[in-house]
Amino acid sequence: SSAPAPIPATLFPGDGIGPEIAEAVKQVFQAAEVPIEWEEHYVGDQIDPRTQSFLTWESLESVRRNKVGLKGPMATPIGKGHRSLNLTLRKELNLYANVRPCYSLPGYKTRYDNVNLITIRENTEGEYSGLEHQVVRGVVESLKIITRQASLRVAEYAFHYAKIHGRERVSAIHKANIMQKTDGLFLKCCREVAEKYPEITYEEVVIDNCCMMLVKNPALFDVLVMPNLYGDIISDLCAGLIGGLGLTPSCNIGEGGIALAEAVHGSAPDIAGKNLANPTALLLSAVTMLRHLELYDKAERIQNAILTTIAEGKYRTADLGGSSSTTDFTKAICGHL
Ligand code: NAD
Repeated sequence: SSAPAPIPATLFPGDGIGPEIAEAVKQVFQAAEVPIEWEEHYVGDQIDPRTQSFLTWESLESVRRNKVGLKGPMATPIGKGHRSLNLTLRKELNLYANVRPCYSLPGYKTRYDNVNLITIRENTEGEYSGLEHQVVRGVVESLKIITRQASLRVAEYAFHYAKIHGRERVSAIHKANIMQKTDGLFLKCCREVAEKYPEITYEEVVIDNCCMMLVKNPALFDVLVMPNLYGDIISDLCAGLIGGLGLTPSCNIGEGGIALAEAVHGSAPDIAGKNLANPTALLLSAVTMLRHLELYDKAERIQNAILTTIAEGKYRTADLGGSSSTTDFTKAICGHL
């Protein structure tokens, strides 16, 4: 029998520790015989006038064509006349939702061992619309934009995600008691979508109360959906509940079914090139990409191999209190496959 044609996917190894942890992903995918063919794209050292950024037009086209990709951390070059790399990706690919699964890693002790939640953040508007100006000297104004279109789009994604992943509840996080118009519209849209999913419980939780509930008992939550700024803060809070940014995966969902997975952490220049980086966050991000492609078997196998390796405790990188190199930790994961 002939093997199925490999699925093309874009890979941005990125900067700093990026290439080292991207190499780990490539090796683990090979060991697990994942039918993915990587199209590698590096960030350029010159501004591409077509994107006004160090990201080339060809790189963006690769993601648009493949509709799936994995991105390592990118260090935005300093200087004038270009757009930030992450902003370019978000705008050009219309990445409207940032999805972060957050679950306790068995065997890696943190304050909680029963966290299993998903945060879904609206990623295009709210306080991050970039519309700020000075009204008069000493007075500035920032516009918080909430639209029906973007709110419905992210709410749809949250309920769809809950449904296909067998989740039971969606909580919309808001401050509509104060932000009556903006957060009020966001909630109205969530309610409309909730009506189409009677099998999923819908609730609304005020952001301040949500923070208290999360730190007291994170098991109270399942899927959380929220506007941009709240999502930025709550998703990092949740990462902290399970052991920090080195372990936390994420996936950006764009128009037309694009999924660009990425680790939450940066390029870690302090440890770059030293074979010290923990590849777990990028590996688990790659797992979210596989789930998006409905390659559930491969996703489960790889996730289990990672979790088993960490739980055993024999091979752990320095950030988790161990003394393994990136390559030895990766070999151990491949061994468990
Ligand atoms: P950082 O996440 O790179 O590093 C913070 C600390 O965490 C450092 O001590 C680092 O060594 C450690 N760390 C991060 N990832 C790790 C890993 N996988 N294994 C072990 N240790 C890890 O944050 P920073 O120093 O604020 O940013 C450095 C660069 O990364 C900046 O240029 C920033 O713009 C960029 N950045 C990019 C992204 C992205 O591409 N999404 C996100 C954040 C920061």
